[in-house]
Amino acid sequence: MTIDKEKSSALLLPLMEDFYTVQGEGFYQGHAAYFIRLGGCDVGCVWCDVKESWDASAHPLCHIDVMRDRAVGSGAKIAVVTGGEPGMYDLSSLTKGLKDAGLRTHIETSGVYPLSGTWDWVCFSPKKFKEPDPSIFSQADELKIVIYNKNDFSWAEGFAEQVASTCKLFLQPEWSKEKEMLPLIIEFVKANPRWQVSLQIHKYMNIP
Ligand code: SF4
Repeated sequence: MTIDKEKSSALLLPLMEDFYTVQGEGFYQGHAAYFIRLGGCDVGCVWCDVKESWDASAHPLCHIDVMRDRAVGSGAKIAVVTGGEPGMYDLSSLTKGLKDAGLRTHIETSGVYPLSGTWDWVCFSPKKFKEPDPSIFSQADELKIVIYNKNDFSWAEGFAEQVASTCKLFLQPEWSKEKEMLPLIIEFVKANPRWQVSLQIHKYMNIP
């Protein structure tokens, strides 16, 4: 049997984990959502809290229909595709399957690859370790900047200038620096009210 590699690459994706939970961050914080975490990332953030996602070959290939069926079976209305860096894959078939089944499609991406697929919500979270692809700026519904040190505020403002005026702007403390950075974020948001604070509330709720 001949395998159509291009086709199978879109239908089979390395799946690290998938689970039904509550979105803990950003604009959809507090909403129930089915998370599909794909393996594979070459961005290399030093503070990454999912380093085990980096090696795509460590995660079994899963058919997109299986992911869709599990998402639908959970009762979720929103599917969040995350990683790793999910943008490295052709996600057209995955998003078509999810949307045909009536789910909203959300993605969390560092924006380093041009996006494929049809998305109801694009959360763009740029990282200092790899430049984003310029195509992401007009596609982002939400800009989420992880604040690790004081210099990150001016870096965040640079991205806010490049996204659409309708894009929601969030500053989120890096988890290990939260005590140090949160007071600075609060003061920055008070002085620059177009920004909002994002906290990783799933970590407070002790859920994935
Ligand atoms: S882009 Fe995300 S998954 Fe990749 S290294 Fe950075 S934080 Fe980790």
